[in-house]
Amino acid sequence: MAAPTLSIDQVRELAANVGTHFMPLLNLGNAASFLWSLFSYPVGVPHRMPKIVESLTNFPMFHGMLAALVMRVDDMPEVQTLLSKLPPVGGMELITDLKQCVVCDAHLISEVFQVKSKNRETGRACTSPTVYGENGAVSNVTLWPKRCVGCEALHYMSYAEGGKILAKDHQQYYDNSPDARWFHVTKEIIWSTKLLRQYEVQVVCSHSGFDTFMSEYGLLHGGAQAAEVNTATRRRLSHAFFAWSVLKWAGELEWPTPTPTLTLTLPYPYPYAYP
Ligand SMILES: [Zn+2]
Repeated sequence: MAAPTLSIDQVRELAANVGTHFMPLLNLGNAASFLWSLFSYPVGVPHRMPKIVESLTNFPMFHGMLAALVMRVDDMPEVQTLLSKLPPVGGMELITDLKQCVVCDAHLISEVFQVKSKNRETGRACTSPTVYGENGAVSNVTLWPKRCVGCEALHYMSYAEGGKILAKDHQQYYDNSPDARWFHVTKEIIWSTKLLRQYEVQVVCSHSGFDTFMSEYGLLHGGAQAAEVNTATRRRLSHAFFAWSVLKWAGELEWPTPTPTLTLTLPYPYPYAYP
């Protein structure tokens, strides 16, 4: 079938309509930078829009249009699927997409800048973990918690802790945490669940040990962080893999939720230093 022929006026009208959906992106380079920025600053991170604006250098700064575009793209499942495939990058920020508390079901807020103890501010609630992706480790990452307005538990990527209801040093893991993009058992190290899955396969098929796997990881992906394979790194992997496996089995065996008396928190002080 012959392609429909369009008059030059129809082409202009079509281009104008398309342009209104993409403004203020003027070219594909802008589009690529924009997607990386959305990935680095996901929905919920504090001061998200100023961070997105600041990250877009050599970009036409129509802030109102940019904010409108961000809102449209946040609701596009295809774009969100694409973003979920991108590898970790330095400077990225992480925050859970949960909206309700897993402990008391109250609303979660992300504007957590300070944690207070005995009416004294003790510092920022965010941490700077190392992220182990499928293709190497990345530092200079910010992990933000969301705080429950009811019980005050802090919610991270895989679990909630603290607040007025949860027991001290107890982590309440989310039902879907073994299947999410990231998994972690401490605030210092975050793992790609694909990497944990790779290790699981190698354990079964190649009988790889933690040390062997992390040595291979360092050789394959290089970089200072990935190359620093030592006893501590091996133990970090074994700790995360143990917790991830237990939670996966709990889901497969349909254990009651919340899983009774299960805590995956290591005793403090840790027998080895994090990070
Ligand atoms: Zn709560």
